[in-house]
Amino acid sequence: MVTNTFYTKGYRAVVVGAGHAGCEAALALARTGIPTLMLSLNLDSVAFMACNPSVGGTAKGQLVREIDALGGEMGVNADRTALQMRMLNIGKGAAVQSLRAQSDKHAYHMRMKQTLENTENLAIRQGEAAEVLTRGGRVCGVRTAVGEVIEAEAVVLATGVYLKSEVIAGEYKQSSGPNGFAPADLLTQNLADLGFSVRRFKTGTPARVDGRTVDFSKCERQDGDAGVYPFSYLTDGVPQRQLPCYLTYTNERTHAVIRANLHRSPLYAGVIKGTGPRYCPSIEDKVVRFADKDRHQIFLEPESAGSNEVYVQGMSSSLPHDVQREMYRTVAGLERCEIMRYAYAIEYDCIDTLDLYPTLGYKKIEGLYTAGQINGTSGYEEAAAQGLMAGLNASLWLQGREPLVLRRDEAYIGVLIDDLVTKGTNEPYRMMTSRAEHRIHLRQDNADLRLTEKGYAAGLATDERYRRFCARKEAIGRIKARLNERVSPLRCTNFMTAHGCPAPSGGVSYADMLRRGIAVEDICREFSVLEGERPDDVDTAAIDIKYEGYLKRGLEQIEKAKQLEDKKLPPDTDYEQIAGLRLEARQKLNKIRPENLGQAGRISGVSPADVAVLMVYLSTRKRP
Ligand SMILES: Cc1cc2nc3c(=O)[nH]c(=O)nc-3n(C[C@H](O)[C@H](O)[C@H](O)COP(=O)(O)OP(=O)(O)OC[C@H]3O[C@@H](n4cnc5c(N)ncnc54)[C@H](O)[C@@H]3O)c2cc1C
Repeated sequence: MVTNTFYTKGYRAVVVGAGHAGCEAALALARTGIPTLMLSLNLDSVAFMACNPSVGGTAKGQLVREIDALGGEMGVNADRTALQMRMLNIGKGAAVQSLRAQSDKHAYHMRMKQTLENTENLAIRQGEAAEVLTRGGRVCGVRTAVGEVIEAEAVVLATGVYLKSEVIAGEYKQSSGPNGFAPADLLTQNLADLGFSVRRFKTGTPARVDGRTVDFSKCERQDGDAGVYPFSYLTDGVPQRQLPCYLTYTNERTHAVIRANLHRSPLYAGVIKGTGPRYCPSIEDKVVRFADKDRHQIFLEPESAGSNEVYVQGMSSSLPHDVQREMYRTVAGLERCEIMRYAYAIEYDCIDTLDLYPTLGYKKIEGLYTAGQINGTSGYEEAAAQGLMAGLNASLWLQGREPLVLRRDEAYIGVLIDDLVTKGTNEPYRMMTSRAEHRIHLRQDNADLRLTEKGYAAGLATDERYRRFCARKEAIGRIKARLNERVSPLRCTNFMTAHGCPAPSGGVSYADMLRRGIAVEDICREFSVLEGERPDDVDTAAIDIKYEGYLKRGLEQIEKAKQLEDKKLPPDTDYEQIAGLRLEARQKLNKIRPENLGQAGRISGVSPADVAVLMVYLSTRKRP
C-alpha cells in the first residue's frame, strides 16, 4: 500500500493506455493543442500487436482509411511498416473491397512510439493508473499505483485487454497481460466505484512457430498485390518489399487430437467464464461448432522482417501446451514445427458502453472518456477508431467546442460507435460490412471525401492533408466530366461489341460504357483518355458513375433517416412521465438517454410506436 502522494501539474489531459486506442487518442489531443500525458504499464507495449500482425481487412480496412481521412496515424503507420499488401474482395464490388496489410509488428510498434515521442504537446510515461480522480462529478486527474497524482481536466481510458487479465492454456491460469506483460489489477475496483457496469470478456491468440522449422513447400504461396493503393492519403506508393504468406489446412488428424482433448480445454471445462469473440473462434470451437467440416484454412504469416516467428492464423487455442504441440504438428507444412510462443486465451474486464454518450464520454462523470477494447470491442482498427474519436471529443470539449459525432451514413466509425452506445454489446464487438446500412456510400476509396473536411474543421487533419484532399476532389470532378463526354458510334461500336454490349444506335459516353459493365482501365486504354490522372482518382470517379442509381436511392433513405436524427431529444427528458410509452421503452430510454429520435428508434426494445409517441411528445413540448 503506497501512502506517499506527490503531484504532477501542467497537463490538461491524461490518456491511460498506449495500445491502438490510446495512441490515436493521445495524438488527437496533442495535435489539437492539448498538453497531454500518455500513461502505459509498459512503453514496450506501445501499439503492440497482441494478436495478428496485420492491419485492415474486410470492414476494418474502411475503418483505417476513415481514421486516416480524419487525421489519425494508423494508416500512415501501417503503410510504412507493411510486409505485404493485398486488396480483398476484388471480385465482389466496390462497397466491400478492403485493403489488408501484413505488418512488421516490431517496426509498427517502434514507428508509432517514435511518432508519439516526437509529437508536440505530448509526453509519454511508463506507469500504472490506479484511480481516476473526480471532484463534483468532473474528472480532476489520475492517481498512479506509486501515489503520483497527475492533475487533468480530461481522462481517456484505453486499457485494452489488461484489466485484471488472466492468461489461460489448459489447466494453466496466470494473472498476466498479453505476451507476458503485467496486468492492471488496480483500476477495475475504481471503475465499479465510479458507477461503471464491469463485465468479463475473453479472447485468444494462436501459436507463433519458428519459420526455419516450417516446410513452406507443402503450402500454397500467397503474394501481395502489385498496384494497390496505400491506406493513407498522405502516402505516395506502397512498399516495394513484399514478403509472402502461405495457406495450409487442418485435417481429420488435427480434429481428432482436438476432440480427444476437449476435456482439457478450459473453454469446455468451464474454466473460462468470459464471453469470447463470435467471429474469431478458437480452433477447438470451430471443430465443435462446424463438426461437418473436414478442414479449416490456416494462414502462415511473417511477424517481422527481422524475426523467424510465423503467426499461425486460424488456429487460436487455449488447449494445454502438450496438446497444442501435437495439434499443430498434424498440419501440412507444420509437421516438424517448433513452437516459439504457445497459443493462449486471455480474460479481462471491460465496461458496458450503454453508459457512454456518442462522444464516448461517460454519462456519469464529465471529462471521462473510454475507448478500445475496454469498451467491449475487439480488433486494432476498432480500437484506433474509438481512440481517435474519444481523444478528439475530449479535446473539443476542453476547447469549449461542439463535439464531433459521425452518423451511420457518414462513416463505419459512426456505425461502430452508434452500435456501442445505442445497442451495447454482450460479446467482443467486431466491425463487419453487414453492420452498415449504407455500404455503397461508406467505401474505402471515398473516406477522404466523406471525412477530411470534418477532420480539418476539428483541427486534426493537417494543411497538407487538406491540400491533397482538395486536389483529389478537383481531379475526381475533372475525370467525371471527361467520362461523360460522348464518343461517336464509329469509334466505339467494335470496342463495345467485343465487350459483349449491343452495338450502339448513336453516340455513347464513356460513362454509358462503364454502366454497361466495361472496366474503366479498358476504356482508358482503348480511347487514350485520362492519361496522367491518378488511378485511385479514376477508380473513385468510375465507381460513383457506375453506382449512380444506387447512390441516389441511398441518399433518399439517408435523407429520411436524417430527419429523425435532426429531432433532438432534450437531455432532461423524463421518459417515465411520457404517456403512451411501453414500460420496456421507458426503462431503456431512461438508461440510454438517446440524443435524438433516430438513435431512440435503434434501441432494442423501442418500437416504431414508441418513436411515434416521442414525436408527438416533441411537438407538444415545442408549443409555447
Ligand atoms: C491474446 C489476444 C488475442 C486477441 N485476438 C484478437 C483477434 O482474434 N481479433 C481481433 O480483432 N483482435 C484480437 N485481439 C485484440 C487486439 O489486440 C485488441 O483489440 C487491441 O489491441 C485493442 O487495443 P486497445 O488500444 O484497446 O488495447 P491494448 O492494445 O490492449 O492496449 C492497452 C494499453 O493500456 C495499457 N494499460 C492498461 N491498463 C493500464 C493502467 N491501469 N495503467 C496504465 N496503462 C494501462 C497497456 O499497457 C496497453 O498499453 C487480441 C488480443 C489479445 C491480447
